[in-house]
Amino acid sequence: MCGIVGYIGDEEAVELLLNGLEKLEYRGYDSAGVAIYDGKELKVSKTKGRLKALRHMLGNGEKMNGTVGIGHTRWATHGKPSDENSHPHTSASRKFAVVHNGIIGNYLSIKELLTNLGKEFSSETDTEVIAQLLEHYDNGNTLETVIRVLKDLEGSYAIGIINKDNPHEIVAARKDNPLIVGVGKDENFIASDVNAIVSRTKDIMRLEDGEIAVIKSNKVVVYDMDKNIIKKNIQRVNWDISAAGKNNYSHFMLKEIMEQPKAVHDTLFPRLKKGEIVLEDDINLSKEYLEKINKIFIVGCGSAYHAGCVGKYIFEKLLKKPVEVDIASEFRYRNPIVDENSLVIAISQSGETADTLAAIRRSKQLGARVLSIVNVVGSSIAVESDDVFYTWAGPEIAVATTKAYSAQLVAIYLLSIYAANKLEKISRIAYTRYVDELFFLPKKMQKVLNLTDKIRKFSEKKYLLESVFFMGRNLDYAVSMEGSLKFKEISYVHAEAYAAGELKHGTISLIENGTLVVAVATQRSVTDKMANNIEEVKARGAQILGISTDSCLDLRKICDFSFSVPDTHDILQPSLSIIPLQLFSYFVAMLRGCDIDKPRNLAKSVTIE
Ligand code: GLU
Repeated sequence: MCGIVGYIGDEEAVELLLNGLEKLEYRGYDSAGVAIYDGKELKVSKTKGRLKALRHMLGNGEKMNGTVGIGHTRWATHGKPSDENSHPHTSASRKFAVVHNGIIGNYLSIKELLTNLGKEFSSETDTEVIAQLLEHYDNGNTLETVIRVLKDLEGSYAIGIINKDNPHEIVAARKDNPLIVGVGKDENFIASDVNAIVSRTKDIMRLEDGEIAVIKSNKVVVYDMDKNIIKKNIQRVNWDISAAGKNNYSHFMLKEIMEQPKAVHDTLFPRLKKGEIVLEDDINLSKEYLEKINKIFIVGCGSAYHAGCVGKYIFEKLLKKPVEVDIASEFRYRNPIVDENSLVIAISQSGETADTLAAIRRSKQLGARVLSIVNVVGSSIAVESDDVFYTWAGPEIAVATTKAYSAQLVAIYLLSIYAANKLEKISRIAYTRYVDELFFLPKKMQKVLNLTDKIRKFSEKKYLLESVFFMGRNLDYAVSMEGSLKFKEISYVHAEAYAAGELKHGTISLIENGTLVVAVATQRSVTDKMANNIEEVKARGAQILGISTDSCLDLRKICDFSFSVPDTHDILQPSLSIIPLQLFSYFVAMLRGCDIDKPRNLAKSVTIE
């Protein structure tokens, strides 16, 4: 969560920091602040609220001149969003200023210790202990002082520090939270992700846990905790700036919904060669290894977990191996029966999701092999996995995922069909049919997007609804879960997803006259059963919005409203049926005046547990 940016060079830092924070605001947006060394002292400006509140403050006379500074957008974990709790935090004498992403687990004991020594705290945050500890251990050398402080900290952090007595450097460090150094010409940056700095430099250094970077305007040196210099490589990021802009769309979310055929195309086509799925450039899954796997675990959070739910049905169907799908935060604290014959598939857009990262570490300790599906190259989960399958969805900015989820589905299709073919669990004819259908998927998705206007009109009739149910069976149930999450995330309307057969075991009591039930019904093997479930809720007054396929005429007849998507192979149908649900959520949220790209209380890239 949260965005960190830092600048050191010849230019005025404040505008560069604000511009960088703007690109990071999707990571956290309950408060924002900057600290700048003005040639004499550290000037701090910070405020509760969106970045525009900070801009307003700075525009209204808070002068901040200086060429060294750090900035932050916060997603509060400790202490409510308030001016005092906003970052940067300073030490008592304002010698050090700190921005922090993460959670300091032992902050209470440090705070108590320092309070007993007479230090006064001005915020409720865990972060302030870092600033106060810096002053406590200060020996005149920022690097040594930082190392001493880090030894006392438990928990997770990415931090940026400036020191008024040593103002020609920024010191940065990380543990379990992402932080990069952007290397420019006579100027350097720190940032929690490349978006913040890519307009200035594409050369970056990714810091690893336990590394401390000392960044001057013309030099970056990275040390380990024993002050040994670490040789770091500079990577060039291939990040198209326009891809991170809104272009002419009203929201990033709508733009990203529309980009789904491209995200799927870009993830799929480099891996389809002459009618075959070729994954050898990405991963190493030999037939012998695949035979050895006795269980597959899929872990993720939020929509990535829902992509995993789709994966469970498909892997079990094609590979005939047991699959458990689990929420990463549950998996890491239960006792999963994972061993050296388990394959753990971790799914994360950012590759930095703290719980998923912890889940793969736990899996590796237990001897499992970890294959991750991530969108951000070089992210922590990618680096720590045995194999990485990159989704090529491009930068995703809206907090509610759409195109990254769609690209994750493609990764699941490719992996499952590839493995089933290697294990000869599917016939050559079936394999060819899957590959042919995959080939048409982006075009079919484009066709679903042509329903946009119709879905907007439908939303205009329904946007005042108070609650909505989503139901489906089999893969349609997995899609219903994702549809329901989208709805809740951005429109703040209560929504629930149910396995259609489960509704009458309790939840059907909530159905009353006019309740909207979205019935996702694309899976041919259970169409009749879905028809019965639709009738059951209709009999209790529900209005039905059916999402079915073009060939499913009978089912549409029993629905009050319906949208149909092109037919494809059953296992690929989720890629099509999710799109009307995304668009419906989007338009309802828009008509209700919600802040679609930055929904309340949420942040993208959940780097804390
Ligand atoms: N734990 C810190 C706070 O609550 C940092 C949160 C963040 O990552 O934005 O202020």
